[in-house]
Amino acid sequence: MSRKLLVTGGAGFIGCNFVHYWLKSHPRDEVVVLDALTYAGNRASLAAAEDNPSFTFVHGDINDTALVEKLLRERLLDTIVHFAAESHVDRSITGPDAFIETNVLGTHSLLKAARTVWLAGDGVPHRFHHVSTDEVYGSLEPDAPAFTEQHQYQPNSPYSASKAASDHLVRAYHHTYGLEVTTSNCSNNYGPFHFPEKLIPLAITNLLLGKEVPIYGDGKNIRDWLYVEDHARGIEAVLENGVSGEVYNIGGHNELDNLTLLEVLCKSLDRKFADDPDLAGRYPLAPPAKGLPCSSKLVFVKDRAGHDRRYSINAEKLRRELGFEIAVYFEEGVSRTTDWFLANPQWWRQQL
Ligand code: NAD
Repeated sequence: MSRKLLVTGGAGFIGCNFVHYWLKSHPRDEVVVLDALTYAGNRASLAAAEDNPSFTFVHGDINDTALVEKLLRERLLDTIVHFAAESHVDRSITGPDAFIETNVLGTHSLLKAARTVWLAGDGVPHRFHHVSTDEVYGSLEPDAPAFTEQHQYQPNSPYSASKAASDHLVRAYHHTYGLEVTTSNCSNNYGPFHFPEKLIPLAITNLLLGKEVPIYGDGKNIRDWLYVEDHARGIEAVLENGVSGEVYNIGGHNELDNLTLLEVLCKSLDRKFADDPDLAGRYPLAPPAKGLPCSSKLVFVKDRAGHDRRYSINAEKLRRELGFEIAVYFEEGVSRTTDWFLANPQWWRQQL
């Protein structure tokens, strides 16, 4: 079955990786990206797709309901994959308003447009896929079982509260109006095109520039890390075989505390410098270029307010019901990610 997709937030980290994956894996499909190009959106991340006749970029806001209706109607789009969001927890602590505006009101604007266009008259076949986060479930004690889809919502930051609100709106549009929806709640992603304010790209770019890498608190906050292309594959599984109205967790089967994660990353980068003497010339400020281990740059800093201690996601439903398996595990994923940042300094230098 071929699809015509509206991908919101497609110039962001996960959105652009999804677009590249989708165009490669579904060459008969059409993809329209709608993105407001906030600080987190970068048209350059979509450069490889720009010449593809199946791809269109539209610069616009998901809160512009009339624009979304027009796109759905005129281009006969049948699928929305909704990534657009304010996504950085630290920013939600200093400025929560934008999170309500985009994550709550913006999601509602999309739902209204989808309802108006797709449910008019006898309706047309459609799917609204909402991309959410494991952070809606709150924080876990060290030995508590991982979050399942039944776990009570207990969001702790303005970011996770805004995502929780959007999840409820998506659910309500299914139950109230019959909109065909699916939601995926996924764990922390990493990979190419990751904006360097988040932990892994921040660490890689700081190390390459010879800067310190800050670690919040005692470094023992635990997250489950998912390689971004596996996230795209998980959404693909839900779009193709997921049941309307259902929620699916997507996880990386890879719980790590921040300190351990950074130690793995540092060792990976040290090895790359040892294996390729050219790197020291290209990145002369990086610790291994000066004969030092990358771990010499790790420094502990004051913890973030309300910092959730542990997230852990149980993605068994996706495996059991839709046959989904992770393809890229952490050491391989970190190595691929580091290679990508080493090869693309022009992309990340312009974000700093
Ligand atoms: P991101 O911040 O990198 O990208 C967000 C994109 O949305 C940007 O391109 C931005 O320009 C766009 N955008 C923001 N406001 C918009 C608006 N009003 N209209 C149109 N476009 C707008 O985010 P990301 O890390 O790629 O995350 C994508 C989605 O996945 C988000 O919904 C996030 O909550 C969810 N998620 C992310 C992670 C993660 O680890 N990054 C984990 C779980 C869930």
